[in-house]
Amino acid sequence: MNEMKVIDENAYEWLAKKHENQWSRAYFSTSPKSDILLNNMCETFYSIILDAREKPVIDMFETLRNLLMARFQVNREKVKKWKGRICPNIKDVLTKIYMVAVRYFPMNSDEMHYQISRSDDIRDQHSVDLSIRSCSCRRYDLTGIPCKHAVCAIWCKKEDPKMMSNKRL
Ligand SMILES: [Zn+2]
Repeated sequence: MNEMKVIDENAYEWLAKKHENQWSRAYFSTSPKSDILLNNMCETFYSIILDAREKPVIDMFETLRNLLMARFQVNREKVKKWKGRICPNIKDVLTKIYMVAVRYFPMNSDEMHYQISRSDDIRDQHSVDLSIRSCSCRRYDLTGIPCKHAVCAIWCKKEDPKMMSNKRL
């Protein structure tokens, strides 16, 4: 915040008026296990309701209800084709994380607690607690998907990161 105050005092004051859990990952709730950005969700919803929002209230809600039923039906059909424990989208996310996780190396203090760091950047260092599926970067805690640090720790434990994901959708 002090660095931001030097760069832009108006931005500092605007953020200072808001509660930290609205804009800082350190304060976000870990209950939802979601990596969806609210702005993206709003834009997607807005694009879907373009036709519906011009209608009277009851017709608008009926249109939205039908859109949601169609979406749920499509998703149920997709789920029937899944192979394995987690959905293909999360498998793709994990594959990208694997490509970055190979740059890290683990040191464990016991079977569940790891320090994960990069040899070329001493400041890029995090603590992983696999017993509670947590990393000090908070991505694992917030999304339920193992972050690059957690993947590194899970590999060190000789387990499959896909089995350590809390994320199914
Ligand atoms: Zn992490």
